[in-house]
Amino acid sequence: MSKKIVVVGSCMIDFVSYAPRLPEAGETIHGHKFVTNFGGKGANQCVAAAKLGGDVALVARVGDDVWGPKYINNLKNEQIDTQNVRITENSSSGIAQIIVADSGINQIVIVAGANLSLSPKDVLDSQPLISLAKVLVLQLETPVETAIEALKLCKGISILNGAPALAQYNLELLKLPSIFCVNESEASVFTGLPVNNVCEAEIAAKLLISKGCQSVLITVGAEGAVYLSNDPSKKLLHVDSPKVKSIDTTGAGDAFIGALAFCLANYDHISMENAIKAACIVAADSVTRLGTQISFPGPEILQNVL
Ligand code: ATP
Repeated sequence: MSKKIVVVGSCMIDFVSYAPRLPEAGETIHGHKFVTNFGGKGANQCVAAAKLGGDVALVARVGDDVWGPKYINNLKNEQIDTQNVRITENSSSGIAQIIVADSGINQIVIVAGANLSLSPKDVLDSQPLISLAKVLVLQLETPVETAIEALKLCKGISILNGAPALAQYNLELLKLPSIFCVNESEASVFTGLPVNNVCEAEIAAKLLISKGCQSVLITVGAEGAVYLSNDPSKKLLHVDSPKVKSIDTTGAGDAFIGALAFCLANYDHISMENAIKAACIVAADSVTRLGTQISFPGPEILQNVL
């Protein structure tokens, strides 16, 4: 069965310990709180689009540990099609072990586990789903060759979130997606330029277009996003994000991409400017609540916007 939005990407479980400070090497300290969250950029973007009412499927891999089936259930609870989420034998699910100190600084170990086994063959096995999608969404927490295979099969709009960023990459990665979307630090790695504000993001976007991107979207935190297409008749855009009281920005980028995919998949004639405005509204709302997937808003947020 076809789905309007197909995400090919990662699932991670976040194990978060809160402690007075970070431990020294070899030291054991007592923390005061522990939470487990469903994360991973692929699944987060999928959930963001599904919460807005999107018709979404995920192509992913989880491990054959206790977390694999739990993750699949979490996706099903969000009405996401999980027929192409497979279990990798003899592998752990992807995990992120996070320690957050009272001062706010953190320490993270990521073990990608089953995410590394998401292969070009998995993509080919999901070919009808991917080819029929109106919007395909990808990131780089799973193997790059898998993302490239999926981009080649896509007949609709493709959004590649270049995260985590790669200092060395095949130019196909920039040329194949309809929209190449990164945050400031990722834009800096992909371009080798400093990207710390709207002006620098505009310069980086121009460089990425000159390297072959069809269009570039750089999110600039509270300042919103910068968009540039390779169509010379279209002007460079800077779209503001609503001013909000930010509590926790974790997952803001994923809320933004999920919402962008939702808008492009559901509103045929929406302009990029309006789709980016809506994505900023959704992402800004998500930073007013703690957490990642649980902080993403429902369809009411876009009621008077689209
Ligand atoms: P994260 O890694 O924290 O998930 P990111 O670094 O990938 O996020 P950002 O550029 O920080 O992505 O933020 C993505 C979008 O979220 C922005 O384009 C903006 O719309 C919204 N946003 C983030 N922080 C704020 C904020 N403090 N106020 C309003 N909107 C925000």
